[in-house]
Amino acid sequence: MDCIFCKIAAGQIPATFVYEDARVVAFRDIKPEARVHVLIVPRRHVDRVSSLVSDDDFALIGDIHRAALKIATNEGLSSGFRLVTNSGPDAGQAVDHLHYHLLGGQKLPIR
Ligand code: 5GP
Ligand code: ZN
Repeated sequence: MDCIFCKIAAGQIPATFVYEDARVVAFRDIKPEARVHVLIVPRRHVDRVSSLVSDDDFALIGDIHRAALKIATNEGLSSGFRLVTNSGPDAGQAVDHLHYHLLGGQKLPIR
């Protein structure tokens, strides 16, 4: 499959990794929108939240949240962070591989 986040997770395209485990990888966004902007991505390809079906698919959401807490600690985000995902065209999802944005390191605009 020609998927950029599958290739990053497989190490075929370079990225600045900040976290890896058996289920997810996390790397810095190439176009950061905050001082800390990390993308947390399952190793296994799933298109988006609305594509989740199986128990193992839904377990990925817990895996991603667990990773987010570890990364938030490592990045010093003790005063808060935002964890968001875009699902489908109306949300502006640009990369069709499930990913969560972890944003912080500054006061974020309210939205
Ligand atoms: P989306 O709009 O799909 O929720 O967000 C996709 C994000 O992936 C964007 O913030 C974009 O900057 C980031 N991105 C796209 N291509 C690459 C890439 O090749 N490397 C990295 N590190 N980030 C990417
Ligand atoms: Zn993929």
